[in-house]
Amino acid sequence: MSDWQTELQQAYTRPADLLAALGLADERWSQAAHEQFPLRVPKAFAARMRPGDRHDPLLRQVLPVESEVEQVDGFVLDPVGDLPSKGERGLLHKYSSRVLLITTGACAVHCRYCFRRHFPYAQENPRRDWQALVSYLRANPEVNEVILSGGDPLSLSDARVAELLDVLRVEPQIKRVRLHTRQLVVLPSRLTNELLAQFKQLQAAGREVIVVMHINHANEVDEAVRRTCQMMKDAGVTLLNQSVLLRGVNDNADTLTELSESLFNAGVLPYYISQLDKVQGAHHFEVPLAEGLQLIKQIRARLPGYLVPSYVEEVAGAESKLPL
Ligand SMILES: *Cc1c(COP(=O)(O)O)cnc(C)c1O
Ligand code: SF4
Repeated sequence: MSDWQTELQQAYTRPADLLAALGLADERWSQAAHEQFPLRVPKAFAARMRPGDRHDPLLRQVLPVESEVEQVDGFVLDPVGDLPSKGERGLLHKYSSRVLLITTGACAVHCRYCFRRHFPYAQENPRRDWQALVSYLRANPEVNEVILSGGDPLSLSDARVAELLDVLRVEPQIKRVRLHTRQLVVLPSRLTNELLAQFKQLQAAGREVIVVMHINHANEVDEAVRRTCQMMKDAGVTLLNQSVLLRGVNDNADTLTELSESLFNAGVLPYYISQLDKVQGAHHFEVPLAEGLQLIKQIRARLPGYLVPSYVEEVAGAESKLPL
């Protein structure tokens, strides 16, 4: 087993253990929320939380709390309408030139605000046979980019990732391969030599590799994350970041400014900041649109344009994510 797989097995899966490690044994959490979507946090990520701080922005992203089980109008099970568009097994073709592939339902960390928290992933067998994907691509020649998503595509073993990338590398219509992953942040040891070699092989074959990280707060970027990003940069990978605007995590101009600065410092450009998907159980993370717009205006006044992410919203049926 690789180091990262061992680390993953040692991740916190019990709220009480995580809280005890942070010196917050008396902090409240919700068993009902935990049963709905279990806590999962790699120790490497928990190590970036501030001991003794019940309002820590990283802890808030992962701790199951009472508000999650309150029903709030407008917050639904499938806010982005992905369930109906999932025709071809695990393949989402919502936007013309790119398809998104659900490679696995698994994630190294469970983010409480995740719009996929209610998806029936357990029923979705990880795919083995990539032939259906190849047939789909050939029938849709306008697709020139494949986005590996999930869950987290890097929950797959290197061997499984390699099988998939080997298939994509030889399809002439594919110009870019993109990975949307949070794993390289919460578990930076996931960037193995084998995975790096795969990225290099894709580039050597003329396919651009883009890794879109998911970082919501500057405290998530530690030395190990910076090293991991540097290794990818050295391999020619384009590094972008998407975050979600989250109440109590990054909902002020100082925090967002610091996030952009620390991303750039790690060699990552801010790409998107998303309005929260209104998924049942996440209402306490919502930042109203008017406030979000105000925040973007404030950071635009402080940062160079290339450090201001596009503020976007996902609307079921739209032909792209919508800029706000
Ligand atoms: C977000 C998303 C994409 C990628 O959109 P970009 O604007 O290219 O980043 C593609 N497909 C689906 C289904 C998505 O949700
Ligand atoms: S890593 Fe991404 S897909 Fe997984 S729980 Fe977090 S937000 Fe959801």
